[in-house]
Amino acid sequence: MVKRSKPSKHSPNAVADRTAAVQAEIGKDPAYASVSPPLYLSSTYLWDDIETKGAYDYGRTVNPNRDALCKAIAALENGAGGVVTSSGMAAISTVLAMFTASDHIIAPHDCYGGTHRLLTHLHAAGKARVSFVDQNNAGALDAALSDNPKLLMIETPSNPLMRLVDIRTLSSKAKAAGALTVCDNTFLTPARQKPLDLGCDMVLHSTTKYINGHSDIIGGCVIGKTPELSESLAWWANCAGLTGAPLDAWLALRGLRTLHIRMDAQEANALALAQYLSKHKAVERVLYPGLKSHPQYKLAKAQQSGPGAMLAFEVKGGLETAKSVLSGIDLFQLAASLGGTESLICQPALMTHRGMSEDARAEAGIKDNLIRISVGLEDPADQIRAIEVALSKI
Ligand SMILES: *Cc1c(COP(=O)(O)O)cnc(C)c1O
Repeated sequence: MVKRSKPSKHSPNAVADRTAAVQAEIGKDPAYASVSPPLYLSSTYLWDDIETKGAYDYGRTVNPNRDALCKAIAALENGAGGVVTSSGMAAISTVLAMFTASDHIIAPHDCYGGTHRLLTHLHAAGKARVSFVDQNNAGALDAALSDNPKLLMIETPSNPLMRLVDIRTLSSKAKAAGALTVCDNTFLTPARQKPLDLGCDMVLHSTTKYINGHSDIIGGCVIGKTPELSESLAWWANCAGLTGAPLDAWLALRGLRTLHIRMDAQEANALALAQYLSKHKAVERVLYPGLKSHPQYKLAKAQQSGPGAMLAFEVKGGLETAKSVLSGIDLFQLAASLGGTESLICQPALMTHRGMSEDARAEAGIKDNLIRISVGLEDPADQIRAIEVALSKI
């Protein structure tokens, strides 16, 4: 039997998510009836008269291509709306703009390196009050939640260690403490996890990654559960100039059409690679939510509709061993970022997470022998062969 993804509440006639993604804005061109949506690069738009502007007036504030992408992502996330931003970090900055310098913000201790750097420096400069917490440590989390928080930031699975947190529990605790919650859903996308359905108030993405899926734009978006939050996010993004470029939104919508089939295929490849690595004698441990050995395998099954296509593993040895695996590896591109059709490999301590202090990295458990892979769409036999050759060199 063919498995049908759950329909989105907001998608037209409640079609399956995959259908909604493929059909978003198709055949809706009001000017020339083009099947594919047109690209609107214009920075400004005509007014009807000095008192009446149309739906679009100025490109920083509103743009049809951003709107189309935002609507499509909001439908998949079951949100009311939001805003498409110039990057994932701009999406995070949009959320932070809603809070004052004295508002207490709780962030995961092992969040994305760029998020960690932004929050650390805003805090040091007195522009935000941030506490980094291991959100699986109930004592530490409850202590932070008792200090009048205004925002709880969630990121699951975490980057690069693939640790999960229980979104439903965290968002209900935050709600009880009077805080809003935002979840960074970049790693799984709405094709695998729907944070708003689990109780979050906002969900954000670096669309640079899986949503666009082809490693050729930088973009972001943030979606609110309610119309009020969505409007507030769009207001701040316009006010601070954080909205994204039309061409990037147009490309990201094109990428979104294949999100579900890309995720299905990349996830199947990731599972095969994780199983291969977990049996390899040069490998210390594999961190992948689709393996029974993952400490939160049960939570992954309950909270996610699949394990996704990101994995990490520790090689036996230290930095030198990791270096020898990564030097001259075939097929896997040595690069930061993730979520493209091509496989990428990186060493987080020196690459994606070098913005974090050594102490913060140690605290989060990011070791020098850790290697992260964004598993792409290549034939899985070729992927496994490339890893086999690289590991045989050590
Ligand atoms: C890449 C990434 C970001 C930042 O996104 P940019 O588009 O690079 O600004 C934020 N969170 C996660 C989990 C990411 O992987």
